[in-house]
Amino acid sequence: MSRPVPKPGILDIAPYTPGKSPVAEPGRKVFKLSANETPFGPSPHAIAAYKSAADHLEDYPEGTSRILREAIGKAYGLDPDRIICGAGSDEILNLLAHTYLGPGDEAISSQHGFLVYPIATLANGATNVVAEEKDLTCDVDAILAKVSPRTKLVWLANPNNPTGTYIPFDEVKRLRAGLPSHVVLVLDAAYADYVSKNDYEIGIELVSTTDNTVLTHTFSKVHGLAALRIGWMFGPENIVDAVNRIRGPFNTSIPSQLAAVAAIQDTAHVDMSRIHTEKWRDRLTEELTALGLKVTPSVCNFVLMHFPTTPGKTAVEADAFLTKRGLVLRALGNYKLPHALRMTIGTDEANELVIEALREFMGKP
Ligand SMILES: *Cc1c(COP(=O)(O)O)cnc(C)c1O
Repeated sequence: MSRPVPKPGILDIAPYTPGKSPVAEPGRKVFKLSANETPFGPSPHAIAAYKSAADHLEDYPEGTSRILREAIGKAYGLDPDRIICGAGSDEILNLLAHTYLGPGDEAISSQHGFLVYPIATLANGATNVVAEEKDLTCDVDAILAKVSPRTKLVWLANPNNPTGTYIPFDEVKRLRAGLPSHVVLVLDAAYADYVSKNDYEIGIELVSTTDNTVLTHTFSKVHGLAALRIGWMFGPENIVDAVNRIRGPFNTSIPSQLAAVAAIQDTAHVDMSRIHTEKWRDRLTEELTALGLKVTPSVCNFVLMHFPTTPGKTAVEADAFLTKRGLVLRALGNYKLPHALRMTIGTDEANELVIEALREFMGKP
């Protein structure tokens, strides 16, 4: 008897393995530092706006997320007609793949790029082409070398998760200039708010001046609204028009839209989080380096630390040691970084506890 057969590509996607449920020693407070969530939560105004929507749950939302597109437009100086909102940037990334990729096409992502990209590529029957990185940083020349007549799309998280590294805007422009004009370049700026480098830009200029570049962003990170699933893209008219044709007519909810509007307007909350992150990024890099760990220079709200392969000092053992103390970091085997752990920057208390625990683990009192 024949059974239903998934489309080509679907079964090439590795099954999702959920993060382990951490079991800490009794009496330990648990700190989840594994999903790059903000330790501060959202703006109190966002919570109030969300609650205010509770009286009208029977109504369908306005279909184009207009109030949110207008608020984003105002915050970034963008034309709201060139913005699409989605259920997290995950939905936006999948809509882009669905719009531009099919069997026989290729999409390029970088070696330790965000895992949603190959999934979105394969789910549409296209081939995931991987470009090597240099020092865990996206390499524009390696991407350009992978371009073939079949290339339709390039995924670039700038800065990237899980490495925490970025490329300067000059390099992004060089990438765009080197790609054929029919290739869509997706710039994923999920961590842009945490970057404090003069040569970094999220890419608005490139989107505004080309008809083949898209910028995506999210409310899940600095705005602390990961639970509400709100992301957005800014793109040229032709791409916005195409993506809107397949977007679900009510793909974001009103409570989420209202919360996101309040969040983007609370710049003081964002600034507070940014200052805390920057302070701890420096401090953690310094302290962990002093313990003999290699830390990849990060511009994000997380740091990537590399452990020795010496028995007793490995990443796997460190992960177990920290978990028992209630400190849950992210192991990166599925990102092909088995000797590294990624730590989301947490509260002062959580960060101090990680330093203390790793000092003990590395045998450096
Ligand atoms: C967290 C993250 C996102 C955001 O995803 P949402 O679906 O908006 O929560 C996007 N890109 C990267 C690289 C991320 O790490």
